[in-house]
Amino acid sequence: MNATEITNAFSVDVEDWYQVSDFEAQVRLEDWDKYESRVVENTRRLLRLLAEFKVKGTFFILTWNAERYPGLVEEIAADGHEVATHGYAHRLVYEQGRDLYKQDLERSQEILMGVLGDPVKGYRAPSFSVTSRSMWALEVMLEAGLKYDSSIFPVQDPLYGIPGALRFPFVIHQSGDRKLVEFPMTTAKVGSKNLPLGGGAYLRLLPYHYMRWGMRRVNREGEPALVYLHPWEIDPDQPRIKTRGKRGFSTHYLRLEAMEDKLRRLLSEFKFAPMSQVLAERGWDQP
Ligand SMILES: [Zn+2]
Repeated sequence: MNATEITNAFSVDVEDWYQVSDFEAQVRLEDWDKYESRVVENTRRLLRLLAEFKVKGTFFILTWNAERYPGLVEEIAADGHEVATHGYAHRLVYEQGRDLYKQDLERSQEILMGVLGDPVKGYRAPSFSVTSRSMWALEVMLEAGLKYDSSIFPVQDPLYGIPGALRFPFVIHQSGDRKLVEFPMTTAKVGSKNLPLGGGAYLRLLPYHYMRWGMRRVNREGEPALVYLHPWEIDPDQPRIKTRGKRGFSTHYLRLEAMEDKLRRLLSEFKFAPMSQVLAERGWDQP
């Protein structure tokens, strides 16, 4: 297959600017209602941008927001995008026990079912927090009826990552006839090292040509790349709060003003589709 013909997967983690792991120590869940909400406007901006390029993607909804703005979830679905879940409260999987994790996941599925009337197929953990410490989460996902997960980053990072994980979609957990497919975050392999691509902060902070180089490299392997970003990443005017971030510093506010242009280039240079569609095209469709 010609590299330019490969359909890549496009995804958005729908959360507000203050609901991120970097701010978790300063911004408590019980105070979320006190912060200026910008998720509806920013997501709509992203929807308009995707419509301009006729690109459909998968929107992983942090469902605390779906509870407050069910109309936004309906707008996303009405535009022809796939709706999936990013959980309810953005707690790192490995910091929750199995029971709390299961509650959070099932609550998010119920909320989206209530809005859309159909079960969602896909899930992405907050900050890719399915790691060697939280592999039990995959069993919970399969039991909860999910078809695919997109939480594993095959890199080494202080917060996340399983360095040796497979780089492209594979069955990660199976029970009887039921299978859970993993669609890992995209990396470029150079020698024995996996370099993170994916999008988000990597797209925002690094030069655009790195992303293009990496995606072309992946497509030349005959595989789809998976891109992700957050609605707050195209919002340079979001409120500023002082934070140290999970790594001791925060990249949250860096280069926000550069993101929209990079995104436009990406959308014009590569072919994209929702994750379910990309998985189905590659024979990972689930009954
Ligand atoms: Zn998130």
